[in-house]
Amino acid sequence: ALASELVVRGFRDVPDFPEPGVVFKDITPLLADPAAFGALARVLADLALAAGAGAVAGIEARGFMFAAPAAERAGVGFWPVRKAGKLPPPVLRRDYDLEYGSASLEVAASAVRPGAKVLVVDDVLATGGTARAACELLEEAGAEVVGLVVLLELAFLGGREVLGERAVVALHTQT
Ligand code: 5GP
Repeated sequence: ALASELVVRGFRDVPDFPEPGVVFKDITPLLADPAAFGALARVLADLALAAGAGAVAGIEARGFMFAAPAAERAGVGFWPVRKAGKLPPPVLRRDYDLEYGSASLEVAASAVRPGAKVLVVDDVLATGGTARAACELLEEAGAEVVGLVVLLELAFLGGREVLGERAVVALHTQT
């Protein structure tokens, strides 16, 4: 309940960004509030520990901002899941479809230990395509995804449905 309130207070709605008709959820007010940011990092760390995660993966770029402090607080490793072409080889890669075109996510092959339990973290769950690709990438690499945690779920976009049986936790859900 506290975490939900922190998300509500820390996110700002920006109409017509990045294009007309879209309401963008801006997380920068939350990042600038050290008490709220720290409290949410602690909540994420506790979720990672409760799930038995040995690593926390963050999805570029805003997922990094929450996954990295959570991993550090939980005392486990942080795995950056990056857009294609940013990480040096060797990388593992997963291509996925967007509304228009396609995209790819990559992870450092050396980071992912087969059998490792990993919690995936991102800021916003919208259609779920990004989170699903990240989970599939990590699973193909041999890791066990113990869950996905997002700060904000836009439930009307149906992202949870595309994630199948995976455990999805949203600190706040907008219907
Ligand atoms: P999806 O793949 O679920 O449609 O989109 C989720 C991804 O896009 C996440 O990585 C998230 O960071 C980003 N994203 C989509 N919409 C928003 C938004 O309104 N605000 C923020 N902060 N990120 C968004």
